[in-house]
Amino acid sequence: MDFNEYQRQAKTTAIYPEATTGLLEAITYCSLGLAGEAGEVCNKVKKLMRDEDTISLRIKIMHEIGDVLWYTAMLAEEMGINLDDLAESNLKKLAERKEQDKVKGEGDDRQEQQSSTGEPRKLRIGPKPVGHNKTN
Ligand SMILES: [Mg+2]
Repeated sequence: MDFNEYQRQAKTTAIYPEATTGLLEAITYCSLGLAGEAGEVCNKVKKLMRDEDTISLRIKIMHEIGDVLWYTAMLAEEMGINLDDLAESNLKKLAERKEQDKVKGEGDDRQEQQSSTGEPRKLRIGPKPVGHNKTN
């Protein structure tokens, strides 16, 4: 099965407010559903750590990942995005990041932050030391 066929079949089970209209209510519903299902995956993975790692639990996790896929497909649908195109675009983005050695980190653009000297800027986390601010 390809992604577009999955998306087409997922639509046949889309029963929620304003389903397949692309309206904000439908987009919001799918976003909330996606977050909820991702949470269900995480909760069951947590149980892998806490409890015994069983085939039964792994099957439950697989089902939750499937729920994530369904909401992903429907969110894409509501956004007017073809799931095949989305998958291809995502792989292309990741390959470009790998090529530029920017797979790690976060952010959509992953642009190098440089200081005025051309050296990569070192980001500091936490409050500035007292007296560091020019206005002090
Ligand atoms: Mg679920």
